[in-house]
Amino acid sequence: MTEDMCKVFVRVRPLNSMEVDGNMSKVVHVVDDQIVLLEQKVRLDVTHRTHNVSDTKDLEFRFDKVFGEDSTQAEVFENTTKAVLEGFMRGFTCTVFAYGASGAGKTHTMMGSAEDPGVMYRTMREMFTLMDQVKEEKEFPSHTLRFMQCMITVDHPFLKPTCADDIVKALNRGNQNRKTNATTMNLTSSRSHAVFQIYLKQKDKTASPNTYWEAKMSLIDLAGLESNAVADQAKVTKANVSKKVRPIIPYKNSKLTHLLMDSLGGNCRMAMIANVSPSSHMYGFTHRTLKCADGAKQI
Ligand code: ADP
Ligand code: MG
Repeated sequence: MTEDMCKVFVRVRPLNSMEVDGNMSKVVHVVDDQIVLLEQKVRLDVTHRTHNVSDTKDLEFRFDKVFGEDSTQAEVFENTTKAVLEGFMRGFTCTVFAYGASGAGKTHTMMGSAEDPGVMYRTMREMFTLMDQVKEEKEFPSHTLRFMQCMITVDHPFLKPTCADDIVKALNRGNQNRKTNATTMNLTSSRSHAVFQIYLKQKDKTASPNTYWEAKMSLIDLAGLESNAVADQAKVTKANVSKKVRPIIPYKNSKLTHLLMDSLGGNCRMAMIANVSPSSHMYGFTHRTLKCADGAKQI
């Protein structure tokens, strides 16, 4: 791995039953494990009312890896986040985030379900495995974590989990909180970011006491692409891409900015997972998501 690293991935979810029942066509095709193709707009216009974009030929995008609709949660974790986690264990500040429209699969990817857990749970489980592997050489005090929601701002006290199951419970509580608060405040999760942060302190057993160093890993299920916060963010992203500076993270949202302030400088590892639906009715969002992800590659 190079010093600074930002990898960009795309995951295409399967058509859902509504899309299948509505006979919606697929406009996104996974060509191989790095190339995804968005069908040309002109052909679509004949049969679908879609967003007004001017593309006249199929658009091909290349990413670090593209996951098709049959991809498993394990496969996505192994190929996106595992290397980032290894960097985290070596002291890098790390961020993994899911980006895309509502319904595109961000929460499925990051949180998943109890039966089929996503990146957050798998990261924690792997972290405990990695800690166990080096327990002869290293000491790990107080790995803490917090789960919170930006925009609605629910700060949880830091937790000190001892196993991955503690974390699943914390995640479920956090997510329940996210839903409850969203309802209370008449917001949907599409308008809030869910941020899960892990702090890990470690030192070599041979090193003198109190020489622990700390690393932070943020796992983020971003607000839906269509929300204002993310529209702002997309503009910021574009500006930054053209200036070739960091960050691609939405820093207009002050809470999120604050949380990620130290995650945007040098010595950071980042992975962006852009989630898209293959369905024609999501054409405009898919187009925007892929373009944004494409822009993020240059960072
Ligand atoms: P988002 O968080 O981006 O709004 P969700 O993750 O909630 O979207 O996904 C919307 C629906 O699609 C959910 O019912 C989810 O279970 C399903 N889904 C998303 N991605 C996949 C996938 N890769 N495989 C199967 N079902 C998926
Ligand atoms: Mg969601």
